[in-house]
Amino acid sequence: MSAKSFSRIKVTAVLFLFLKIQPSVQAPLNGTKWSYIGPDGEKTWPQKYPFCGGGFQSPIDLHNNILQYDSTLLPLELIGYNMSTTDQLALTNNGHSVRVGLPPTMYIRNLPFQYTATQLHLHWGNRKKPEGSEHTIHGKHFAAELHIVHYNSDKYPDVTAAMDKSDGFAVLAIFIEIGPFNPSYEKIFSHFQNVKYKGQKAQVPGFNIQELLPKNMNEYYRYEGSLTTPPCYPSVLWTVFRHPVHISEEQLLALETALYCTRFDDPEPLEMVNNFRHIQEFEERLVYVSFHEVAERTKKTTKVSSTSQQLTMKMTEKTTKVSPTSQQLTTRMMIPPKYELYLITESAFHSWDLTEICPGQCFSSLLQGFKTLSETEA
Ligand SMILES: [Zn+2]
Repeated sequence: MSAKSFSRIKVTAVLFLFLKIQPSVQAPLNGTKWSYIGPDGEKTWPQKYPFCGGGFQSPIDLHNNILQYDSTLLPLELIGYNMSTTDQLALTNNGHSVRVGLPPTMYIRNLPFQYTATQLHLHWGNRKKPEGSEHTIHGKHFAAELHIVHYNSDKYPDVTAAMDKSDGFAVLAIFIEIGPFNPSYEKIFSHFQNVKYKGQKAQVPGFNIQELLPKNMNEYYRYEGSLTTPPCYPSVLWTVFRHPVHISEEQLLALETALYCTRFDDPEPLEMVNNFRHIQEFEERLVYVSFHEVAERTKKTTKVSSTSQQLTMKMTEKTTKVSPTSQQLTTRMMIPPKYELYLITESAFHSWDLTEICPGQCFSSLLQGFKTLSETEA
């Protein structure tokens, strides 16, 4: 479709996605206990937390077949990351990880919304198998992974309100590998002895949090996924940096051995190790990359784009006033897979059952189709 022919079509359509069947999300009946091993391990998460068994889950393996270069992915602008040493940050052992609370003066500026920092935490393996990153690249784990969690403060008053919204969170993920001693990470790690057990808290003097990120921040993977811990809401815009940061072997060992999932007085102490979720299926979705060295995608993804094209065609045939902006299209369903698509235009109302025209989880294809559509129009 030529740009000219399309420009005649007035951009007035508003796209809404409504769940056809929306199972109620109730508080888990058997408490909120979950873990990485044992009877409450990740295989059982979906029983108590339905989203963990749903779509758009994280982490994922980042491999060529699903990657697509996107020239619009600019370096992130991190504001307020350079904290004063007189500020105090709360370090906590929450029984699943060690986390550092972050102040609302820290935020990311140049995403579709302003995302304000709330906390950072780590995922790691164990001393015998130091492969504890959540995301993998071509099937390869890194030793550990840092997550810096931000919530959409343009749209939501706090983390709790943002948590279950499709555009609620933006998380920065940083791979950690063994290398030279890292004095910046030590600013957190040196306090581990004070938070050995679940529920313990300590204070960490402020520092430049950006030092925890790789020097080259221009190259990253971007995709829409989920929290990697229960309740696994598909609410995260992920930025996974391509280049790892390094910490020394001793520092990694401290991370792998210093902490416990259990409380101080627990008669059966459980070491905090292997606190990473395994990779999740990633079908018919794409990961956008800000860098060029990506091999040609295979037939599988070619099929995806042709599906989206067909879908685009199919939908434009039915209405002459369809051209939602990509922002409207970033709406994700919170509970797949049964939902309906409604297109409301100036003069008409159309609805389709997506499970009919878009079998399987091809929602990404749909978004891709509309993205193409709106780009063509522009
Ligand atoms: Zn995490």
